[in-house]
Amino acid sequence: MPDHTLPPGATIGILGGGQLGRMTALAAANLGYRCHIFCQSADEPAAQVAAQTTLAAFTDSDAISAFAQAVDVATLEFENVPIVTLERIAGITPVYPAPSVQAVAQNRLKEKTFANELGIATAPFRAVSSAADLRSAIAEIGTPSVLKTVRMGYDGKGQVAIRTDTDPEVAWAESGAGPDTGGGILEGFVDFDCEISVIVARGTDGDSEAYFPVENRHANHILDETIAPADVSATTIKRANEIAIGLAEGLDVVGLLAIEMFVTSSGEVLVNEIAPRPHNSGHWTMDACRTGQFEQLVRAICGLPLGDASRRCDAVMKNLIGDAVDSWADYLADPRARLHLYGKSETRPGRKMGHVNFLGRPLRD
Ligand code: AMP
Repeated sequence: MPDHTLPPGATIGILGGGQLGRMTALAAANLGYRCHIFCQSADEPAAQVAAQTTLAAFTDSDAISAFAQAVDVATLEFENVPIVTLERIAGITPVYPAPSVQAVAQNRLKEKTFANELGIATAPFRAVSSAADLRSAIAEIGTPSVLKTVRMGYDGKGQVAIRTDTDPEVAWAESGAGPDTGGGILEGFVDFDCEISVIVARGTDGDSEAYFPVENRHANHILDETIAPADVSATTIKRANEIAIGLAEGLDVVGLLAIEMFVTSSGEVLVNEIAPRPHNSGHWTMDACRTGQFEQLVRAICGLPLGDASRRCDAVMKNLIGDAVDSWADYLADPRARLHLYGKSETRPGRKMGHVNFLGRPLRD
């Protein structure tokens, strides 16, 4: 067994208590690991299935240090853990993906700049720090365009569409961009044919395995369905994979990196966003691939060999958002469906309550 291998029985620390942490903890348990979840309440989805929990704020440095001492390796399931918190943990125990990766992924300006420096295309963009700045950025980038916060945005939150008749003062105020969000970023609007994503796993030895590109369809800015595989050209698949591996290697990721991309009608592939963690668009892999994304994360951060990421069958993943979860019994009765519920006690509109993987016929090897 190589030196950097953490054998089963070791404890994995997970920052964040949501469904991604829950499914990571379940996959870890299958391989004989224990999970210690750092979150805010004992009722959170991951805390419900973990061996241990620390209930504290990410800014509580004593709680963070004690957590770091209690675990053998740490990872995160939540985008916005402060970098100082991650660095404090990294001073005590390994954190994968590293704080330097998180610092790029938490900042839309840094992630787009990083991609462009590797020769990977994105929408054109400009940093914006005031309404006056926005006015000149609109003159440069043109309309339609999208104003986003540099940090802390997800599922379309903190985004404002900019049209020819938009008043920059109003749009700036509406976006909520300011010193707390690292300012704003104006992006040219991409008239895409479809949105795809690739998830790459990369081990401590630099080995990587990518899942097949999938298509993501959104409703109200939230992922609604993932179609695996994406119905795009062989050239697009090749380019999407090159981009994903290029970013994972460029950032020196250990763990998972999800890359969301736009495919234009001319076949150009542009990176929209990266996430160094398990991703909603990878939930299909749990039932349709030889190794699912959560097990792959556990393997990567524990120094185990990566699993085979290939597809056993095609699949469609459907998110159960808000009261869509009430149909759970129908999915249980459907032989093609695999149901995953997150244990959330309260159903709210827009809240991800679970997902269903609809599986196609087994593929031939
Ligand atoms: P994001 O928070 O950056 O992932 O954006 C959420 C969704 O808004 C994306 O999945 C796209 O559907 C849409 N979107 C974001 N940025 C752009 C853009 N520059 N052009 C067109 N659509 C966008």
